[in-house]
Amino acid sequence: MAEIVVIGGGFAGYSALKTLHKLGVTDKHDVLLVDPSPKFVYLPSLPYLLTHKKREEEISEPFSRIAERLGAQYLKDAAASVDAEKRVVALGSGEEISYDKLIVTAGAKPEYYGIKGAESALPAWRLGHYYRILEKIEGGASSAIVVGGGLTGIEVAGELLEILGPGNVTLVEKMDLLLPALRHEKASRLAREFLEEKGVRIILGRGVAEVENGRRVILEDGETLEADLVIWTVGIRAMEIPFTPPPQRSRRGWLLVDEYMRVKGLRDVYAAGDITSVKVDDAYACKMAEEAILQGRVAARNVAAEISGEKPVAIHRPIFRSDRARTLFSMGFNRGVMVWDKIVHRGRLPFTAKMLIEKVVMSDIKGKPLGGALSELEIVFIKTLDKVLG
Ligand SMILES: Cc1cc2nc3c(=O)[nH]c(=O)nc-3n(C[C@H](O)[C@H](O)[C@H](O)COP(=O)(O)OP(=O)(O)OC[C@H]3O[C@@H](n4cnc5c(N)ncnc54)[C@H](O)[C@@H]3O)c2cc1C
Repeated sequence: MAEIVVIGGGFAGYSALKTLHKLGVTDKHDVLLVDPSPKFVYLPSLPYLLTHKKREEEISEPFSRIAERLGAQYLKDAAASVDAEKRVVALGSGEEISYDKLIVTAGAKPEYYGIKGAESALPAWRLGHYYRILEKIEGGASSAIVVGGGLTGIEVAGELLEILGPGNVTLVEKMDLLLPALRHEKASRLAREFLEEKGVRIILGRGVAEVENGRRVILEDGETLEADLVIWTVGIRAMEIPFTPPPQRSRRGWLLVDEYMRVKGLRDVYAAGDITSVKVDDAYACKMAEEAILQGRVAARNVAAEISGEKPVAIHRPIFRSDRARTLFSMGFNRGVMVWDKIVHRGRLPFTAKMLIEKVVMSDIKGKPLGGALSELEIVFIKTLDKVLG
């Protein structure tokens, strides 16, 4: 039996483990991380594997090393289901582990919205997906259609354009502008102008009706596009883990949590990161790495309080929310866009800032000297920006 089980070691899971360690919980209690992947992967830098700007070792770290450093145990397995009445996690291997407190941070997976043939396209969400894309390119693929003009679609299209050249990458977005979820007309326009100037064909306002054999895309108006690669970046849904009793979920399976990051409808179960739906006023917390880090921290603080007989005290107030345009993304060619509410900047600086954030977070995750302090400083910086500008 492990007293505290963390399901998933991404940004939220890592942040929860680190917080439990910092609070001394790992000295007194058994803390177990369960993850089917052998390593932490910095997902926001995956597109740079395509252009070899990054190597896998730079943007990943084995969980065995992370767990050892933080005084936890690591089990390479997947949570298959959770019985929150008996406080037991059933694993993919058939084993069962019991817990006193559970933190669910299993993230998300691609969503296909029931579109015919969409699963024949290549997703772009995990490390393995990028190796499949690379394999195809090394095998001679010379043109690509990227479906979805959100942040991931733009980043992937930009990197692909660098390799495949002008005229060989098409980006398809159902809405009338890129980055529709950001609701920031200027940022959308700046991204569109840059990509078009560099040679991406952008199709807006027409959705995909069907994908055939991972090579052909049929648009809603009947136009057919063909390429060696079709990449799917349209949406995500919660990683599916069935619970007894069923918790409150929103659309696409997100776990509804309260401000303490407790899963609504379950006892002793917390959740953080992409798998959650955090409501604030009439908005939601965005599915972003920094949000996952902050949420993981709050969940762990409250677990630490509860396990020592106190009431949960930490409250999560999202900084990255659906009603505020705040993001940083790249567009290939070492250029990017930074958006913080009304402030927008396009150029080399946002890309450099994105690389710097990766360096800071990865140095923390790799346990390098000053890594923890620098990553703390980054969080303080973001919170200060939120107070001063927000
Ligand atoms: C290409 C790309 C670019 C992105 N760019 C940005 C960006 O620029 N800025 C930004 O803020 N965010 C960005 N994001 C989003 C960001 O990466 C996510 O919001 C963040 O990873 C969420 O963290 P998480 O801990 O909730 O989930 P994840 O980081 O996805 O971690 C989930 C973990 O759970 C594990 N897991 C899954 N299923 C199970 C199971 N059944 N049992 C146990 N473990 C399980 C997985 O193996 C994984 O290790 C990007 C994402 C992608 C894919």
